[in-house]
Amino acid sequence: MSAGRFAPSPTGAQHLGNARTYLLAYWSARKAKSKLVLRIEDVDSPRVKPWASQQAIDDLSWLGVSWEEGPDVGGSNGPYLQSQRMPLYRDALQTLIRTDRVFPCACTRKDIQEAGSAPHFDHEPAVYPGFCAGWKQGDALPAEGTYCWRFRAGDQSREFTDLVLGSRECVPAVALGAFPVTQKNGEPSYQLAVVVDDAAMGITEVVRGNDLIASTFRQIELYSALGLQVPRFAHVPLVCGPDGRRLAKRHGDTRLSLYRERGVSPAKIITWAARSAGLIDEHTHVENIESAIEHFDWSKIPERDTRVETDGFQ
Ligand SMILES: [Zn+2]
Repeated sequence: MSAGRFAPSPTGAQHLGNARTYLLAYWSARKAKSKLVLRIEDVDSPRVKPWASQQAIDDLSWLGVSWEEGPDVGGSNGPYLQSQRMPLYRDALQTLIRTDRVFPCACTRKDIQEAGSAPHFDHEPAVYPGFCAGWKQGDALPAEGTYCWRFRAGDQSREFTDLVLGSRECVPAVALGAFPVTQKNGEPSYQLAVVVDDAAMGITEVVRGNDLIASTFRQIELYSALGLQVPRFAHVPLVCGPDGRRLAKRHGDTRLSLYRERGVSPAKIITWAARSAGLIDEHTHVENIESAIEHFDWSKIPERDTRVETDGFQ
């Protein structure tokens, strides 16, 4: 069975930009009669806010988004909080250690920033200079808590066909370098947790912002190393303010919880999302989330980021 997913990070409030990505994921899945899974990505523990998981669920429900599996409704692929799935990430790490795909790295961010080569993708850290890559199994490990595990990215070209962006290609060893699969505190990196969970939950379609293209190449490396099936990807345009920069606080308050409190109709947000993503013209209104499904088509979604004026939907 095909499945899509929502994966909010409870590190802050959900904004208008998040909402549009969730709606596109929803429309694509419902049009294809796929099931939907809600997973809370709460492994970045220093940044997790205790209120944010429930607020994300409330925001999505208010928009009319529904799902068949999740922390609130249960399901056969749970638990649906990443913080409760640590044994799965540890198993995957053990596989990567056993097959010599990772090495321990105690370098600091500063070490890498100073010696690494320039990133090939926007918003990416410097490419890891390879200081610790000579480690072999049986060699001593650095002290607990001082190192992460880094994946040896492959030197073969990787290609995937994105539902929005078309064919994308890079050589991971050159463009990305060795990348962390754990944090120094032992938690899995975003890359590892996402791959393990999407595979274990049977996710066949991943819809997310186009700022994650570099992550997708890392994740394809991990799917391959762990012998897992790669899902389809749709990297959707980001929502930007009138200045062309990614929507943020400087453009005003676009938290969904604020719109909810102010009594803004979800239909206004849904209509805005469908219009700004190119699904309907500026004269068409949609009544609710379900009535937009018939307009959905990946071929309508533009590659370029969308500039919006946000008037607060008053
Ligand atoms: Zn290192």
